[in-house]
Amino acid sequence: MTLLCSELEVHDIVDVPTSSREDAWAVRVLNLLTMIPVLQAGDCVRELPVFGLIEGVFLTGVIDELCYNIKGELELNELKTRSRPVMPSEAQRRRDHFQVCLYKYIFDAMVQGCLKPDIFTSHVSLSPEQLLGSEVKQHAQKAGFTVSTFGDLLELLCLNLTFSDIPHIDCLKINYNHQESNILLGTDIVLYEEKKVREKAQYYLAYWKGQREAQGVDIEEAWKCQFCDYSEICDWRRTRAEMPLQRSGPKKTK
Ligand code: SF4
Repeated sequence: MTLLCSELEVHDIVDVPTSSREDAWAVRVLNLLTMIPVLQAGDCVRELPVFGLIEGVFLTGVIDELCYNIKGELELNELKTRSRPVMPSEAQRRRDHFQVCLYKYIFDAMVQGCLKPDIFTSHVSLSPEQLLGSEVKQHAQKAGFTVSTFGDLLELLCLNLTFSDIPHIDCLKINYNHQESNILLGTDIVLYEEKKVREKAQYYLAYWKGQREAQGVDIEEAWKCQFCDYSEICDWRRTRAEMPLQRSGPKKTK
């Protein structure tokens, strides 16, 4: 099952013409606003947008699925499709684990009332005074929201999230499916440790903030280097190539 198929099971997809950046963001905000009552009613949502800050940096993402499990816990399900019928490498799985941990971090902050309208204006340079396009306003009206400006919508979102009483995410799951056969290859249950998530985010963001040098890929992902535009000037690759070859397995005895 593709992501689109699973989304169509629970949502209708409609085209909303937009005429400004604020309009485009307004559609995402409206998507999220319309999912709040669904979660409050204990139902499942798919393709839920999340926005927020981690270590002072604005992040956005889309959660594949949120639903309540048999124990009544809010469960995040991420679907990864694989072109080959094998589970990904450890490095890829670590990356996927970090992705869903970040989603939980942002989602939990949203439902705890940490998302404020000024985050959108200061970090994404969006104008709260921007009038929404007529199609976006109509779309909002159909969903039950009467708004004129982008700022109106942000206020509504932040208020609705803060007073939603939606719980934080209890369980993180990643399903790996083979794309062609749709066979489930495996499921990872991801352990969430907020301190480690923040430390990891700090480490990765330090590169983007110019506070540390780039680090080469993990050794099991060295295959990526052959497709990399920077391979000719990459110090990590040159250093690896100069290292003595390390053989694994027991030494042969004569
Ligand atoms: S060549 Fe260097 S920069 Fe490119 S993927 Fe490999 S380690 Fe990363």
